[in-house]
Amino acid sequence: MAKRDKLTKNQQRQVAKQQTQRLTEKAIQLDELSEPKEGLLISRYGEQADVLDPESKQTFRCYLRQNLGAPVPGDNVSFRIDNQNQGIIEAIFERTSLLERPTRHQGVKPIVANIDHIYIVIAPLPDFSSILLDRYLIAVHNSGIDCTIVANKWDLTNEIESQEIDAFLKVYQNLGYPILKTSTKQETGIDQLASLAKNQRAILVGQSGVGKSSLINQLFPEQQRAVQVVSENSRLGQHTTTSSQLFMFEDSKGFIVDSPGVRDFNISHLEPQSIIEGYIEFQPYLGLCKFRNCQHINEPACEILKAVESQNIERLRWQNYCKIMTDLSQI
Ligand code: GDP
Ligand code: ZN
Repeated sequence: MAKRDKLTKNQQRQVAKQQTQRLTEKAIQLDELSEPKEGLLISRYGEQADVLDPESKQTFRCYLRQNLGAPVPGDNVSFRIDNQNQGIIEAIFERTSLLERPTRHQGVKPIVANIDHIYIVIAPLPDFSSILLDRYLIAVHNSGIDCTIVANKWDLTNEIESQEIDAFLKVYQNLGYPILKTSTKQETGIDQLASLAKNQRAILVGQSGVGKSSLINQLFPEQQRAVQVVSENSRLGQHTTTSSQLFMFEDSKGFIVDSPGVRDFNISHLEPQSIIEGYIEFQPYLGLCKFRNCQHINEPACEILKAVESQNIERLRWQNYCKIMTDLSQI
């Protein structure tokens, strides 16, 4: 015991890893394995993951084969099961997209794979923050994935200055971003969201409190409850609350991922050029400024500044842009 106490954090991690590996090998050698099947990874818990067999609609808890890489929700995988319904993931199929987030150590961590649509959820409560929305839109643009803005808690807009809200949303509508108004309280817009999303492989992002869990709850009441039961009942559940969860539509191949890891879509790892490109309305003016390295903040003969003055670019968007660029240079 005394010796164990002296292990460094690193050594402790190593021991834990070896123990898991031994467990993995033991579990896998126990019984005969089935032929390989193709499945969809719906949630990952450390060295294990839940894989959905799309044919039987059954979910299997699987170990990961050594050197498999890092499978994430949304991954199509090849797996085998034993006669105890325990599985092992043997391969990850090629991905069509991968969302990553920056880690504290300047690296990036994969979060969710094969997504083709991002729903950015905003709400009048906590508040409609245009700078936050811009940050999401920059990250979305950088990912190359299509998006829709979901303006949730629409029931509250009667109480709040609704003209102001309309003006706010108009800015984004004019830029071509689709906007969907929803209320989980009044159950409006939810069917529309479901009929759009059921043919997509989507993810919900948005600041805490805008109603992402409530939307998932309305779209997938049964599955949401199942996740909560797992969280409450199992020790693995401690991870459940912080790991991504994939919710599958019943009669289609579509799904929505709720991922705490991507919810606040950090953009601190992006280059200034990616921020500029994220402001899609700047596009026609880029390369026309007097200075080739113009940052479009206060330089003379800047075409972006001129476009703001002539109201071809919304001042609000440009102000947010300046703030984001200034924050970036202070990191
Ligand atoms: P999340 O942090 O984005 O997952 O947000 P939650 O789903 O936990 O919701 C945060 C709070 O907003 C909860 O108290 C919900 O009941 C409330 N909420 C969610 N959707 C709506 C809505 O459409 N209208 C109103 N008025 N409140 C909502
Ligand atoms: Zn410029």
